Amino acid sequence: MGLEVSDLKHLIITHLHRDHIGLVNFIRSASGVKVCGHEEASKISRAPDEVEEARGQVLDPLGGGVLFGIFGVLEGCLRGLRPMIRVDRKLRDGDLIPLEGSTLEVLWTPGHSGEHICLLEVERRILFTGDHILPSITPHIGLRKLDGSDPLRDYLESLKRIGELEVRLVLSGHGEPFTDLKGRIEEIMRHHERRLREVKTALVGERTPHSGVAEKNTWRGAPWSLMPPWVKRMAAEEALAHLVYLKNTGVLGLGFAMGFHTFILNNDIHIFYLHDFPILNVLMLFPRRLLPT
Ligand SMILES: [Zn+2]
Repeated sequence: MGLEVSDLKHLIITHLHRDHIGLVNFIRSASGVKVCGHEEASKISRAPDEVEEARGQVLDPLGGGVLFGIFGVLEGCLRGLRPMIRVDRKLRDGDLIPLEGSTLEVLWTPGHSGEHICLLEVERRILFTGDHILPSITPHIGLRKLDGSDPLRDYLESLKRIGELEVRLVLSGHGEPFTDLKGRIEEIMRHHERRLREVKTALVGERTPHSGVAEKNTWRGAPWSLMPPWVKRMAAEEALAHLVYLKNTGVLGLGFAMGFHTFILNNDIHIFYLHDFPILNVLMLFPRRLLPT
């Protein structure tokens, strides 16, 4: 195209995951580019320290703040530190971004992350899906703590909305371009229906932390015993997102017992959940032993 990095004027980010923003600060320093992202992205990217501080305040009395710090440093060393970026222009759902000879429409698609957007090139019906819809894998839909959010509900609603668009070509953040958007959306919906059935089945039997539900689910790639700790954490976050969805659709009840949040099926407590994710990792190492019987 004959363009240099220094020719860039605007950079639109679909969401704040590190594999989508890794070069943002480099490009900004090389070009003075303005970074555009959903208004939710501007909140998150503006206040990472406040989030860490709030977590510390909750976890410190339990000793969790120290554990969180240790785990965070270890994870950072192993995976590389998450870059912090500044969002210069806040985008909202329905915004139209004029380009030379075409227009991009901003579509807010929360679920994979709260700030996720897709971009529709209106004239040629080309959809940039980021991580919302991928051709061969399903995006991570996870929840770290019970904060009233329901990312799986958000995700499924975002999927339905995108499925109503007429699109000729899909360009996603990972994998090859594809054209059958509606077919792919149906596949992803079926995946989550299967996973919801699987999660419900996992509730039968012994009491378990929610990571135990993830352990019983089927995963592509490495089996549970060979997953690295942060992959186990993501799997446990997926399990929690599905449990919360089941709770919000009336399949499960939610309770509190002996310091644990509990998910309840047919009047029997089955799943125990602690807000504190370092303790979650301890539970992964010593599953079920810490639970009341
Ligand atoms: Zn992502």
